[in-house]
Amino acid sequence: MYYSGWAVERCNFAIMKRVVVLSGAGISAESGIKTFRDSGGLWEEYRIEEVATPAAWQKNPELVLDFYNKRRKQVLEAKPNPAHLALAKLQEQFEVKVITQNIDDLHERAGSKSVLHLHGEILKSRSSVDPGLIYPVSGSELLLGEKCGKGSQLRPHIVWFGESVPAMDEAIEITKTADIFLVIGTSLEVYPAASLVMYAPDDSVKILIDPHAELPFGTGDFTLVRNTAGKGVPEVLNKLMMYHA
Ligand code: NAD
Repeated sequence: MYYSGWAVERCNFAIMKRVVVLSGAGISAESGIKTFRDSGGLWEEYRIEEVATPAAWQKNPELVLDFYNKRRKQVLEAKPNPAHLALAKLQEQFEVKVITQNIDDLHERAGSKSVLHLHGEILKSRSSVDPGLIYPVSGSELLLGEKCGKGSQLRPHIVWFGESVPAMDEAIEITKTADIFLVIGTSLEVYPAASLVMYAPDDSVKILIDPHAELPFGTGDFTLVRNTAGKGVPEVLNKLMMYHA
């Protein structure tokens, strides 16, 4: 594990209150939910174009529903891991806002109170004609024939590749407020989510926790913690809480 200087001496943790977290699929890997890009990841089994694009939905809605029904079942069986739990505990001392690329609900189940889902939520469905009509999915399956209040087929409440990210503006504003910006378990390859690293204030403490952590493009001031989320996140957050106490 590579652990570069924390520079805790130059930080006044007593006045640093606001923690903003950007999490990705890696934070849920140890809960048993596969990431997209690692070997053994989801895209080795499925082609993006066939299951996670508007064109796929037009062509074969049954295949798309089936793909997300499998993902939903996996999410319902998963439990928050020590990384999700440590972030919830951090709220005892800090104001914590989580921005997640994940479609699972493990941050919420761990107890995080402020969670913004950039790419949607798998436990919800929405109208295919009115994006404002959002419903909980009862059980693990969403099926052909299930319709919204306006009579159109319900689709998974997911931002597919090629669709805009409605929560992006809010995510940028949240990121700008960070005293401490934690990036956890993301390859930073999916845009626009990855561009959030550019919006953290210059004087914020920036830490990236990922076994394959590399300095995000154009940013030289991230501390890299090359560890899994389950180990690295509690370790880093314990330090933050100790210095803040
Ligand atoms: P990604 O698959 O591109 O990258 C996963 C990252 O997680 C990699 O950098 C990898 O090194 C890291 N990782 C693997 N195991 C880890 C561990 N134990 N601890 C910490 N990090 C670990 O995922 P991404 O960057 O989030 O972007 C891909 C898209 O995949 C996102 O849009 C997200 O919506 C979607 N996705 C979500 C879930 C989920 O909701 N749990 C699962 C798979 C994919």
